[in-house]
Amino acid sequence: MVASDRIWKNRKIIIAVDGPSSSGKGTIAKLLANQLGYAYLDTGLLYRIAAYRKIHGGNTEVLDGLLVDDFMTSLDIKEAEIELRSDVIGQAASEMAKSARVREILTKMQRKFARNPGADHSGVVLDGRDIGTVVIPDADVKLFITADLETRTRRRFQTLKQTNPGISFEQIHRSLAERDKQDRSREIAPLTIADDYVIIDTSKDSIEESLRKAIDIILDKQLG
Ligand code: C5P
Repeated sequence: MVASDRIWKNRKIIIAVDGPSSSGKGTIAKLLANQLGYAYLDTGLLYRIAAYRKIHGGNTEVLDGLLVDDFMTSLDIKEAEIELRSDVIGQAASEMAKSARVREILTKMQRKFARNPGADHSGVVLDGRDIGTVVIPDADVKLFITADLETRTRRRFQTLKQTNPGISFEQIHRSLAERDKQDRSREIAPLTIADDYVIIDTSKDSIEESLRKAIDIILDKQLG
């Protein structure tokens, strides 16, 4: 355990990690949760599952009121894994994420998870686009993880070419730029950096260095 529970020991801590696609936010958020012993939620996956369901003929309305665990098991994630992580679903998720109703259902689900991370966890880390601005505006720590478009394209290319050898760097570059634009300009809950975020640019740093920065920020907040 990295952060001591000295100051925060009587309540559950919420850490919001927002940022654009392939900035490293998911990796950092997961490692943070692991080190701190907190629960972790990849909220992008919820939007991806909603998009997947829609593409395969499912209805979003039946998801209203579900807990994250039930939502996750509404399809066989292992079987759907490759498609869920694809660029096609990423784009479809970003498209669906413009819908007020979809956001309402998924935001409710995320809030329930964040407020009740379970007895085993003294806190929770959520990563997404609007965690610190809309989902949990009173989160204890808000990190904005970013990187330049070239770096993010390179990372995504390395990952996606393993399951899709035909995919090109240019294709991914275009798709990430398009998704950035869509996520930043949508009317509801756009990706923005509010004043209370601390920014971590991962373009030139290793995961370990970025994680260390994140932990230092959390310790600073905790002790300050
Ligand atoms: O993070 P990931 O790339 O998996 O997210 C897929 C899409 O879901 C994003 O491009 C974004 O449009 C949407 N999303 C969102 N709000 C979140 C998480 C993801 O709108 N909290």
